[in-house]
Amino acid sequence: MSRHSFADAHPDDPHFVSRSGWLRAAVLGANDGILSVASLLAGIAASGADRHAVLLAGIAGLSAGALSMAAGEYVSVSSQSDTERADIAREKQALHEDPEGELRELAEVYQERGLSPETALLVAREMSAHDALGAHVRDELGLSEVHAANPLQAAFTSALTFTTAGALPLLGAWLAPAGQILPVVLVATVLALAVLGAVGARTGGAPAGRAMLRVVFWGVIAMAVTAAIGKLFGVAVG
Ligand SMILES: [Zn+2]
Repeated sequence: MSRHSFADAHPDDPHFVSRSGWLRAAVLGANDGILSVASLLAGIAASGADRHAVLLAGIAGLSAGALSMAAGEYVSVSSQSDTERADIAREKQALHEDPEGELRELAEVYQERGLSPETALLVAREMSAHDALGAHVRDELGLSEVHAANPLQAAFTSALTFTTAGALPLLGAWLAPAGQILPVVLVATVLALAVLGAVGARTGGAPAGRAMLRVVFWGVIAMAVTAAIGKLFGVAVG
């Protein structure tokens, strides 16, 4: 399969889709890190637990979350790449067993995209002569190197971003004056989420405002609900 991508040929016309793979894992990891650690801290602090218990829960939540995030990402991306590899192997087999049928199939793909039957067949012939498997994988299966999943990279990226981002509310809790853990964690988390929303949007070439609002809104909801549950249990158990 040929390795030259459109982005290589046109550096003056940037497209952001090539960043989508690791960007998605990174933003997901960071978002999850901030939200799950901050909500955990909010819940424990709202229950009336002392600083030591709050920080301990935060550290436990951070490490447990990072590991489960990495494991989950590795497993899900691995099964995705297993499926992709199996599809490519089936395509290779079909090309070997029925090249004419596969050629017609490829021509139909181009016809559906608007080419006349004659032009579609001509394009399918030339694409197949150049790189038959590559053409089928790209145009029939819709797979491209841009989205080719790398399980280890995705697992590492999400664990790293989970830990780095999740450490922010934890740092806030650690630096907070006595009795002020909840408001400090809330402010630190809202700021961290706003920055994350902006960075994620900018890296993906999307407008920042809406992304920031979205991530902060859901962040505050998550913390409020967990703090309410923490308070409830704090009263019930205390
Ligand atoms: Zn095919």
